[in-house]
Amino acid sequence: MRIVIVDDDPANLFLIQHMVQGLEEGDPVTFTHPVEALAWCEQNVPDMVLVDYMMPEIDGLEFLRRFRGLDALADVPIVMITSAGTRDVRQKALELGASDFISKPMDRAEFVARARNMLALGASRRALADRAAWLADEVEKATAELRQSEERYALAARGSNDGLWDWNLETDEIYLSPRCKAMLGYAEDELSSTPAAWFDRIHPEDVERVRSEIHGHCEGGSEFLQSEYRMKHRSGEWIHVLSRGVVVCDPGGKATRMAGSQTDVTDRKRAEEQMLHDAFHDALTGLPNRALFMDRLGQAVQRTRRRRTATFAVMFLDIDRFKLINDSLGHKAGDDFLKVWSERVTATLRPSDTLARMGGDVFCILLEDVVQISDSTAAAKRLNAALTDPFTIAGTELYATVSVGIAMGSPTYKSAEDLLRDADVALHQAKAGGAGRFQVFEQAMHEGALERFELETDLRRAVHKGNELVLYYQPIVRLDTLAIVGFEALLRWRHPRRGLVLPGDFIPIAEDAGLIVPIGDFVVREASRQLEDWDEKFAYGDTPADGRPHLQTAPYIAVNLSTRQFRDPAHIQNLLDRIGGLHDNRRLQLEITESLLMDKPEQVAELLRKMKEMGARISIDDFGTGYSSLSYLHRFPIDILKVDRAFVGLIVEGDSNIGIVRAIISLGHELGMNVVAEGVETSRQCYALRDLGCEFGQGYYFSHPVPGADATELIMLAAVR
Ligand code: C2E
Ligand code: MG
Ligand code: MG
Repeated sequence: MRIVIVDDDPANLFLIQHMVQGLEEGDPVTFTHPVEALAWCEQNVPDMVLVDYMMPEIDGLEFLRRFRGLDALADVPIVMITSAGTRDVRQKALELGASDFISKPMDRAEFVARARNMLALGASRRALADRAAWLADEVEKATAELRQSEERYALAARGSNDGLWDWNLETDEIYLSPRCKAMLGYAEDELSSTPAAWFDRIHPEDVERVRSEIHGHCEGGSEFLQSEYRMKHRSGEWIHVLSRGVVVCDPGGKATRMAGSQTDVTDRKRAEEQMLHDAFHDALTGLPNRALFMDRLGQAVQRTRRRRTATFAVMFLDIDRFKLINDSLGHKAGDDFLKVWSERVTATLRPSDTLARMGGDVFCILLEDVVQISDSTAAAKRLNAALTDPFTIAGTELYATVSVGIAMGSPTYKSAEDLLRDADVALHQAKAGGAGRFQVFEQAMHEGALERFELETDLRRAVHKGNELVLYYQPIVRLDTLAIVGFEALLRWRHPRRGLVLPGDFIPIAEDAGLIVPIGDFVVREASRQLEDWDEKFAYGDTPADGRPHLQTAPYIAVNLSTRQFRDPAHIQNLLDRIGGLHDNRRLQLEITESLLMDKPEQVAELLRKMKEMGARISIDDFGTGYSSLSYLHRFPIDILKVDRAFVGLIVEGDSNIGIVRAIISLGHELGMNVVAEGVETSRQCYALRDLGCEFGQGYYFSHPVPGADATELIMLAAVR
C-alpha cells in the first residue's frame, strides 16, 4: 500500500511518517511541495493521502480541489490534517471531497484508527471498482461471443439453406427468417408474423397432423418436433418442407416458445416418389407391375372377404405368338409393339380397372364392378375386338390376338395368388383351344391343374431316379414281304400308382416343365443300348454268323424328337455325339414333326443336314396333321414320310376314301422319300396301302408296341438259325 504524506513542515512530515509506520503498510512517500505531490499522485495513484491544511504555496483546500479534479484520483481517500477549531475549513474540505480529518496535535492511536478505516474504505472501493471493471470485461467478452455464435448460426442456416422460425407462444407471434419466406416465394417484408399465415399455407390433408405433432411435442411426447408436410408456394405449387424444432418451457412447465428450422425437401421427396413409382411400375409400358397388381388384387380379395360379396374379376392375358414378333422383327420392335398394344388395351378399360404387366408378354387386368360372368366375358370380347385391327410396327403389319383366362372374384378366395393361379389355369385352357380365345375358370379346371401338378412332381422324380421310364418298341414292316425292317421306340412311364402311363399324358407336361431334354437324352441312350444289344445277339448281311442267328438286314430304331428338344443346343450336340458314337449310325432314325420345320426353318434345315451327315436318317412324323406348306418340304433333308393314322383310318371296309392317302403317298415319292403308313389295324388297310405303293407299315395289325425283350423275340422269329 502506498500512503502519501504532504506537509510543508519537515518536522511534521517526520512526525506523521513516524505515526504511519504503526500501520505497518510499508514506507510512505512524502512531499513538502503539494504540486509535486499532485504530479506524483496522478502518475502512481496512492492508496491514501494525508495532507496538511496550512501550506504556503497552495493550501490543503486547493490541493483537495485539484486532487479530486483528476479522474484517476477521484476515489482515493484523503485525510486532512487541521488545527482545532477551523469549522469553516472542515466544511469546505468535506465539500471538496475530503474523506476525514485529523486534528493537531495528533493522537497516535486515533490517527492509526482513522487511517486504517480510510485504507479499508479505499481497499473495498478498489475491490468494487475492480469487480466493476471485471464485470464490464466479462460483459464485453460475452457480447462478443454471442455475436460470434449468432453469426455462426446465421451462417450455418444460410449454408444449409434452411429457414429459421421462432414462435412466441405467449404473444402468438412467429418470426420467420427471410429464407423461410423465400422458400414459399415471398420477400422478407411479406407474410404476416401470425402463425395463422403459416398454417393457412399447409396442405389441407396435412394440417391436422402437423398440429397434432406440434401439440404432441409440447406435451412432452417427443424430444424434438419433426414434421414433414406440404405447403403452398406463391406459384400455387405444393412444396414439401421438413420442420424441426424444440419447445421452451417456463419454470412452471408451461410452453412459452418454440423455435427451429425449416428445410425445403421437395427435391428429395420427388426423388423418393419417383423411386416409389419405379418400384411399382413397368419401365417399358409405364403400367403397374406385378408387385402393384398383387397389392391391388390383395385389397380386392380382403374387401370381398369382409363384405361377403364379390364385385371384381381377374383376367390373365397372354399375347398369342408374341415370340414370333420378337424373333422375326427383333426386340426393339417387340418392345414397340408391347407399348402400342398396352395403350390399345388400356383404351378398352374403365378408369377403375387396372391393367398391369406381369412380365414378358403376360398381362393382367383387375376388373372392378364386375358381378356376373357375362360382365367379364363382355370385357374379354371388347378386348379382342379392339385387337382385330393390325398393328404397324417397324413398317410391318402385325395381327396379334390375345388369349384370356378369367377368374371371378369370390369370398372363398383367401389370397391374390390363389385367384391368379386360377386365372392362369383358365388361360392355359383357353390357349389349348387355339389363339384369340377366352375361358372363365371353373373348379374342375383347378382339379385338372392339381392333377397335372402332381404328375409333374412325380415325373421329375421319375426322371431323376430313372427306373420308371422304359422304351417299348413297335415293329415297322415291309408291306410286300411283311418282314420287320425296324422299330419305333415309344416311351412308357411305369408309374408306381397309376400303372403304365402313355406319352400323350406326360410328354406335354415334360415339355412345359423343362424335362423333355433329360427324357430325350434317356430315349436316345436307351435306343442305342438296345441296338448294341441286338448287334451282339445277331449277325447281319455278309458278316459271318459265328453261331448267332442271321438276318439279311439289320433292324433300325426310330426315336421321336420333340420340337422343344431342338431349342437346347447342348442337348442337340449331345444327340449328335451319340449318333456319332454308334457303330452303325444309319440304324438310328429320327422322327420329327412338321411344326419343327415351321419354327426356325433355316436353323432346323442346317441341324438336320448335320445329323444326316453323321448317317442318321430322318422321318417326318404324323404327316398331314400339321400346317406345313408343301412347298417347304423339299428344302429339308428328309428320308421318310410317315402318313398319320387318321388318313390310314379312312381306308375302311366298303366305302373307302383313299384319295388323300394316295395323294400323300405320291407326294412322298415325288420328293424322293419312302413312305410309312401309321396305325395299320386291318388286313384291308395293309393290302390297300401296299397296292398304293406305300413301302412300309406300322400298326396293331402287325404288333402293338412291346418291351425290348419281346422285340428281340420278334427279330429272332424272322432270323435264320
Ligand atoms: P407317334 O410318334 O405318332 O407314335 C405312334 C403312336 O401311335 C404310338 O402312340 C403308338 O402306340 C400308336 N399306334 C401304333 N399303332 C397304332 C394303331 O394301329 N392304332 C392306333 N390307334 N394307334 C397306334 P403312343 O406310344 O401313345 O405315343 C404317342 C405319341 O407320343 C407318339 O406319336 C409320339 O409323338 C410321342 N412319343 C412317344 N414316345 C416319345 C419319345 O420318346 N419322345 C417324344 N418326344 N415323343 C414321344
Ligand atoms: Mg413317332
Ligand atoms: Mg406318328
